[in-house]
Amino acid sequence: MGEIAFIGLGNMGLPMARNLLSAGRSVSAFDVSEAARARATAEGMRAAASVAEAVSGADVVVTMLPNGAILSAVYAELSAAAEAGALKAGAVAIDSSTVDVESARGAHATATAAGLLSVDAPVSGGVGGAEAGTLTFMAGGSDEAFAAAKPELEVMGGRIVHCGGPGSGQAAKICNNMLLGISMLGACEAFALAEKLGLSGQAAFEVISTSSGSCWSVNTYCPAPGVGPESPADRDYAPGFAAALMLKDLMLSQQAARASGLTTPMGAYAAELYEKFVADGGGEKDFSGVMAALRGG
Ligand code: NAD
Repeated sequence: MGEIAFIGLGNMGLPMARNLLSAGRSVSAFDVSEAARARATAEGMRAAASVAEAVSGADVVVTMLPNGAILSAVYAELSAAAEAGALKAGAVAIDSSTVDVESARGAHATATAAGLLSVDAPVSGGVGGAEAGTLTFMAGGSDEAFAAAKPELEVMGGRIVHCGGPGSGQAAKICNNMLLGISMLGACEAFALAEKLGLSGQAAFEVISTSSGSCWSVNTYCPAPGVGPESPADRDYAPGFAAALMLKDLMLSQQAARASGLTTPMGAYAAELYEKFVADGGGEKDFSGVMAALRGG
């Protein structure tokens, strides 16, 4: 392994590609944005003019793209190149974008039909984790594909979990983030109500974080300012994890629930509340910023 094609050099992709480069891999980088390609070149990567050029001679392809439709289009180009014999034998395609489970499974099918090994490996940990190389990867794919992808995932991440077959990584990510959205809204409501009832934030934190209401949204990422470990609440809700991205993940959870015939009323309501928060201008705020909206209301 060593020849990496990296496609999608945005907020997450560029630092992830940088870590592969720093670990001694040769990185051929493609993004539709000229500015992104220029940043990759400035960091010592080879900028390619197309997906086909980027993946030529690669033994690993990593994609970090905005959504499922773009992923499908990129995988169509990738598979055409693979069918033309442009990639090394045994090459593995790793998709780390957050997309719907259906698109993830479609990408697997496209890649494997073209003779590639394929892994969906969405991440949590945000831009900070991408820069530090400490992302958590939730991976889906065959044992053989996972084994081929693992050394590269270990360069970019701190924790790698093989969740199961194709699409399992996306499934795990969507379920986790649906619960996170719900629990964060609950934490915001609890701390806003505590305040109205005359409790100090500190008292509310001390009780809830050590009682049955404790959860990551309270203990690690408390939406009330000035209490608990430092969090976006302490910097006027600068992200962190932007509310627009939480809304995206909640929508994916609802798409997956519909496709599998399950109703998830709490997830649906969380999606609705974040949709309103984003429509009211909160999209660039951290997702815990709902707390400020509640206090103001
Ligand atoms: P971003 O918008 O900063 O980057 C996406 C990049 O893809 C852009 O540079 C864009 O020009 C490029 N792109 C679009 N279409 C392309 C195409 N056809 N070919 C090549 N490049 C193309 O987004 P991001 O924040 O880096 O997020 C990427 C993915 O990671 C998303 O799916 C997101 O949901 C997920 N994610 C983001 C975070 C986060 O905190 N930012 C955390 C976890 C997961």
